[in-house]
Amino acid sequence: MSEKRDYYEVLGLSKNATATEIKKAYRKLALKYHPDKNEGDTAAEDKFKEAAEAYEILSNAEKKQRYDQFGHAGMSGGAGGFGGGMDMDDIFSQFGDIFGGGGGGGSFGGGRGRARVVRGTNLRVKMKLTLQEIAEGVHKKIKVNKLVNADGVTYKDCQTCNGTGRITRVAQTFLGAMQTQSACNVCQGAGKMIDKKPSGADAHGLIRKEEVIEIDIPAGVEDGMQLSVSGKGNAGPFNGISGDLIVVIEEKNDENLRRDGEHLHYDAYVNFVDAVLGESIEIPTVSGKAKIKIEPGTQSGKVLRLKGKGLPVLQGYGKGDLFVHINVWTPKKVSKEEKVILEKLRESENFKPSPDHHDKGFFHRMKDMFQ
Ligand code: ZN
Repeated sequence: MSEKRDYYEVLGLSKNATATEIKKAYRKLALKYHPDKNEGDTAAEDKFKEAAEAYEILSNAEKKQRYDQFGHAGMSGGAGGFGGGMDMDDIFSQFGDIFGGGGGGGSFGGGRGRARVVRGTNLRVKMKLTLQEIAEGVHKKIKVNKLVNADGVTYKDCQTCNGTGRITRVAQTFLGAMQTQSACNVCQGAGKMIDKKPSGADAHGLIRKEEVIEIDIPAGVEDGMQLSVSGKGNAGPFNGISGDLIVVIEEKNDENLRRDGEHLHYDAYVNFVDAVLGESIEIPTVSGKAKIKIEPGTQSGKVLRLKGKGLPVLQGYGKGDLFVHINVWTPKKVSKEEKVILEKLRESENFKPSPDHHDKGFFHRMKDMFQ
């Protein structure tokens, strides 16, 4: 598949275009490149389809949000991609709300003899991910229970519309007097009805079946985000197009690392001897254990910032950081011998707190921490 153009660019709009502007821009392009005006011009047809696809996404609040967040990656998720999902029938069924009139998925222009393809519903699943999976991105197999076309279903033409799926009228439109066609309300525009179906199949000839779907989760996703796998939802009635599979991301709590956007935080505990003399300690990261050096004379509350040890920025460049918060651990019990040593240390001049500019406490650190 060739590189897709940005949907806003296709419609000649900026990212903060309003719904009205999006509709207006699409209307203009749809008229310009409409097949009725550009017969046999495949370049125009491509532009027509490209604009329709852009509008399909940007006019739908949920899809628009996903696109704004993930770009084209969010629209495909799996291997298939959105690309092939939209044919002329879909585009003409979109015109009902763009050009008004023609009620319920009406198309205009006449001459296209095929009935409408009915779209299946979207399927939603939740997916729990660990921080490690989020850090690297992950390939997942999801078992879903979805509606598929049952074997052995036979169809017959809808009697109301004689199999055309449409009911034709002549109406005044901004293009002049035109035939407008609206979807047949008996067959929802499919032009078909179920003739025979096996037991277990519903009124649309669909049956539930377990299926395994593979999806690539990009690195850096967050709790609550939604990814869409085009065409992997429920099957469309009458062999129509399938809906989408919507994958809702849930982040598992990590026992050690706390997430803050692309940054991570970790509480490290060291005993005060290590804090005084310095020591190397092991800490967990999203990519396994790492060793860090505690400098001699480290204060409790010191924050070490490990550049690039956080999470990747979704749709962006680089990685966040890992903040290691040093906590000096105070023993709750000591032996007699230890007490003797400690009492001796207490008298030492070196053990009297005298923080200098770098070693100040909580309020000082809050100011400096995220600089
Ligand atoms: Zn019908």
